[in-house]
Parts: sequence; C-alpha cells; structure tokens
Amino acid sequence: MLYVQKFGGSSVADKERVLNVANRVAQTVSAGHKVVAVLSAQGDTTDDLLKKAREINSNPSKRELDMLLATGEQQSIALMSMALAAIGLPSVSLTGQQVGIHTSSSHGMARIRSIDTERINYELERSNIVIVAGFQGMDRYGDITTLGRGGSDTTAVALAAALNADLCEIYTDVEGVYTADPHIVKNSKKIDVISYDEMLDLASLGAKVLATRSVEMAKKYRVNLVVRSSMSRAEGTLVKEEAKVESTYVSGLAIDKDVASISVIGIKNEPGMAYKIFSALAKEKIVVDIILQSIGRGETKDISFTVNLGDLHKAMDLLQSNRQSLGFERVSYDDNIAKISVVGAGMATHSGVASMLFEALFSARINIMMISTSEIKISVLIDNKDTDAAANYVHEKFFSLPAR
Ligand code: ADP
Ligand code: ASP
Ligand code: MG
Repeated sequence: MLYVQKFGGSSVADKERVLNVANRVAQTVSAGHKVVAVLSAQGDTTDDLLKKAREINSNPSKRELDMLLATGEQQSIALMSMALAAIGLPSVSLTGQQVGIHTSSSHGMARIRSIDTERINYELERSNIVIVAGFQGMDRYGDITTLGRGGSDTTAVALAAALNADLCEIYTDVEGVYTADPHIVKNSKKIDVISYDEMLDLASLGAKVLATRSVEMAKKYRVNLVVRSSMSRAEGTLVKEEAKVESTYVSGLAIDKDVASISVIGIKNEPGMAYKIFSALAKEKIVVDIILQSIGRGETKDISFTVNLGDLHKAMDLLQSNRQSLGFERVSYDDNIAKISVVGAGMATHSGVASMLFEALFSARINIMMISTSEIKISVLIDNKDTDAAANYVHEKFFSLPAR
C-alpha cells in the first residue's frame, strides 16, 4: 500500500520528536508499505520567520516572504532524511519545486494547480522513502509560493490524490478530530468518523486541526483521510464521504480566535452604499463574514462586519484611505473578539438550537456582540477573554446530551 503521512509542526518540534517520527515511518515501511512523508516546519518556526521578516520591514513583499517561509519546511525534510539514515533507512527529501507542485502566483495563499508524479514515483520504485516539504510550491515562473497557514495538510491531501495513495494520515498533537478543540474544552470527545461536509464546516469556521482547503480537496478526490496523534497509538478520526449522523444534529463546536470586527459609522442612508464598501473589500480579496447593519437614523446608518485577523490592517487601510469616496464618517475596529460556532447538518431540522446556545451563554453571563445563522451553523461573536468559558459552557449544553 502507498501511504501519505503528514507530520505537523508540533510532531517534529525538536530532536526527540524528529526521531520519533522517523521511527513511525520506519514501522510503516517494515510492514511492507511505501511512504511519502509530508512535513511542516518545526514547532513555531513559521511564526518566528514571520516575526523576523516584520522586524526588518513591516510590510514585506509577499514573494520574498514566501521565499523565507519555505525555508522552515526545507529544514524539517533535510533533518528527517538524516534521522532515517541514522536508523538505516534510505530516503530522499524534496522541496515543492523539486517535486513539481505547480501553484497559482498568489503568494501567501497560492492554490495547487497540478503535481508532477514522476520524481516521486521514481524514488519510490528505488525503495526510497520520499520526504516532501509541505506548504510550498512554485508558480509558472518557478518562484516559490506558499499555500496559506496550515497548508501542509493541503500538500498531503493533494499528493495522496495525485499519487492515488491508499490512505492519507495527518499526524498531529491530538488524537483526532474532537467535538471541540480539546485544548480549550476539557470534556470534548473524539469523533470516530466524520463526513467531509461536517469536517469542512468545522474547519472553515475555525477548527484548525485540518486546513479548510485540504478537506475540500479530500472531498473532491475522495481521499481517505485519517487524523491521529504522532505521540500515541490511538486510532484517530476517519474523514470520509458518509458518516452516520442519525443520533446527532450538532457535529461540533468551532472556536475561532483569529477574527476582528470593523464598524463603519455614519454611512449615507441610501442605496448602493453597502455595495460600494464590500466591493472595495472584495477587490482586495478580503473575506467578510458576519455582517450587521443598524437601522438607519435618518440621514445615516452603521455597518459592522468581521474579517480574518490577518486581513484587519489591510481592510482598515483600505477603508480609511477611501473614506471620502465611500461616503462615511469614521471607521473603527475591535481585535479582542472571538467567534464560536455550533455546527451540524442536522440543525436544519431541529428547532431550538439557537435558544440552547443563547441559554448556555446567558448561564455563563457572557455577552453576545453579533449573531449569524445558516441552515448548518450558528455563530456568535464574543469578547476574546470569554472564549474558553463560553466554549466549555456551550459544549456542555450540546454534548452532555446522549453521545453520538
Ligand atoms: P499541526 O502542527 O499538527 O498541523 P495544528 O496546530 O495545526 O497542528 O492543529 C492541531 C490543533 O488543532 C490541536 O492542537 C487543537 O488545539 C486544534 N483544534 C481545534 N479544533 C479542534 C478539534 N475540533 N479537534 C481537534 N483539534 C482541534
Ligand atoms: N508551517 C506552516 C504553518 O505554520 C504550514 C503548516 O504547518 O501546515 O502554517
Ligand atoms: Mg496544522
């Protein structure tokens, strides 16, 4: 069988962990399988590199940032190949460019267009373990690109699809996908099987255990995906087409601390104003989530909305420098907020989910700043400092019910 095994930053954080991963790969190989290992940068390397860049230039070029960030993964793969050699296993490390991972040119959030499989297949046929740098590729000019934070998951799934692998295993620091982030909600439970769609909802609403694009890709190419721990033998979570959901209507809780809200105040109360503001943001590829408009007070109205924390300054600069042409009085922001979402396809047919959520927050005396609902989720915006309490109360409310 061919396995793609991805090891995240915490799984390769130091010497011991690199050796631990080498041993796990060795076990798969000695069971008679072929392995393509995809690695992230060690520990906090990516954050440290970002910080380093910003110390030199507060607004570095995206091309050069990708050039820098990609070095994190390059270190990991070289070290892993050395670790495997030390236990007598032949391997070869390959960067995204060497494999031929072709992406779009949007530095910092490039999309994989195609993957060449010749080099990897050649190495596998020669009985080499292939170690691929996650998170990186190259555009049509040969320039290094990166796929967005958490992008090594996407590299792994894309490789599994391109190579027609039997299984794609995502090794991380928790034992699988839980009903909520186990580092925040102590009573969260591991989910044995989850559907692509449910996982997609959780990931896109902030459960960073899998990058959203990796789940999209797994769904598109029907990649069998397992999330498990590199530090234990526990079985993990299987992500696949269908999962039994009869007994539950809520699949999980997503907690997103990487959000900020922006309030545009004193907008002329006439048609076309929202269009102007949001099309200006869309042109800059700024994704807007929850939107709230106040009832107009005669001449003017206010609009508040949320963006990813990473886009906050770009959005603020854009609005501030176009204040006159967009026709509003002033703009402010709040980056001390968090979003908690209750997610589940079964919610569409269950009434009362919203009131259960609000009751849980009320019992914890937590104030709600904004609310947004759809058929499959309800999100609330709260003060950042309330996040952990809110997550635990809400989880208790929904999951102390009969277990799935
Ligand atoms: P890696 O470095 O292995 O890619 P990440 O930090 O990107 O790891 O993702 C794993 C983390 O995701 C966990 O440590 C956990 O805190 C967080 N997480 C958030 N939501 C969930 C969830 N529903 N189930 C499991 N882990 C989650
Ligand atoms: N090293 C990259 C990051 O920290 C990619 C990854 O870990 O998946 O986002
Ligand atoms: Mg990750």
